Amino acid sequence: MSAVDDAQRYFDLAAETMGLSQNMRILLTTPLREVRVQVAVEMDDGQVHTYIGYRIQHDKARGPMKGGLRYHPEVDSGEVLALASLMTWKTAVVNLPYGGAKGGISVDPKQLSPGELERITRKFVDEIQDVIGPDKDIPAPDMGTNAQVMAWIMNQYEKYHGFSPACVTGKPVELHGAEGREEATGRGVAIITRALAEKLQRPLAGSTVAIQGFGNVGSHAAKILQEMGARIVAVSDAHGATQNRDGLDIASLLSHQAATGGVSGFSHGDKLTNAELLALDVDILIPAALGGVITHENAKDIRARCIVEAANGPTTPEADEELARREIVVVPDILANAGGVTVSYFEWVQNRQYFKWQLQQVRQQLEQVMTEGFQRVWSVAEEKKVSLRTAAYVLGIGRVGRATVVGGI
Ligand code: NAD
Repeated sequence: MSAVDDAQRYFDLAAETMGLSQNMRILLTTPLREVRVQVAVEMDDGQVHTYIGYRIQHDKARGPMKGGLRYHPEVDSGEVLALASLMTWKTAVVNLPYGGAKGGISVDPKQLSPGELERITRKFVDEIQDVIGPDKDIPAPDMGTNAQVMAWIMNQYEKYHGFSPACVTGKPVELHGAEGREEATGRGVAIITRALAEKLQRPLAGSTVAIQGFGNVGSHAAKILQEMGARIVAVSDAHGATQNRDGLDIASLLSHQAATGGVSGFSHGDKLTNAELLALDVDILIPAALGGVITHENAKDIRARCIVEAANGPTTPEADEELARREIVVVPDILANAGGVTVSYFEWVQNRQYFKWQLQQVRQQLEQVMTEGFQRVWSVAEEKKVSLRTAAYVLGIGRVGRATVVGGI
């Protein structure tokens, strides 16, 4: 099944629970606008290469649209559409005044020189600058893009529209970026994990955690969860995994990663495979790498008591059913990883107010937004006797649906 089919299936489950009419279902799932552009650039060797860029704007009933830009060879319109709709529900679940969008270019950024990456980015902005903007659609980093790419986007956009730092978020702190944006998604995951542990009356202190992916999200989540008292017993990256039942020292592991480029070969941990990591007997499993990693095939091997989805779309609907049957609690991506878009919202607010917040303020507000989102989703799940995923969709779809009806078509 494709990412679009998965997104539709999760939507349909919630729509069923809500008794949503067929017309409303079609209205809420049909994207507002799909943009597909040619991105032709001259490479360093003088050859001209042509890439395809996408920006899909899913819904704007609750405010300007918001969503990341992904540079990856497998980017296609189906994946971008699925991720755009996830953004609509995600911003609604944590009650940010935004709609949802997503974009990307089908390119492998690892094969590009910095100059090529910059030219591709600027050319893409030339093609989409009239449909994005602080009050329309605000891109942010995602896989394969970073603060530098966001700085180029801002600079190129400003050539057309003048000073507009709020046209993009995830910018460098030196250039209108927000303190705490880099750690935001991982911190949000940690806040949600702690809230879940409290609800389940299994204190986080001493709980065992395995994390797939040790990039931006996974490494910050590991560090902050360890500060909160959890025992991180295993982590992995694209090249391998390491485990220590007494708990990995995340600060040392980060130094090892910085020195060697990965987590493999860590002297205070034992080697294991990625598949073994997913099947570890732990309290909490956090997929923080790719989509579609917990599937029909491996769901039966999962022994974790809870799963907190830090990555986008890590669990397929078939796997989700199997996990529910085995009473494994899953906190869905649209709640668990909403910390990133939340601090992006804080960045946009600061840019629009020309007023910079201190890191402490960012962290406090993030804690409030994530905790409130979690409590609301938990209450809906209890009230309607549904999974946390269906509850999050019910909350998100309900908010978007009401805004659509109140605003009028
Ligand atoms: P990243 O590129 O910084 O890190 C990804 C990590 O996953 C790396 O450690 C990589 O080595 C590892 N990885 C890749 N393939 C793997 C595999 N087969 N097995 C194990 N590990 C593997 O990306 P990120 O920003 O940390 O994003 C991770 C996930 O979180 C993505 O799904 C992304 O869409 C989602 N997400 C990110 C943010 C954000 O703010 N960065 C916000 C919301 C959601």
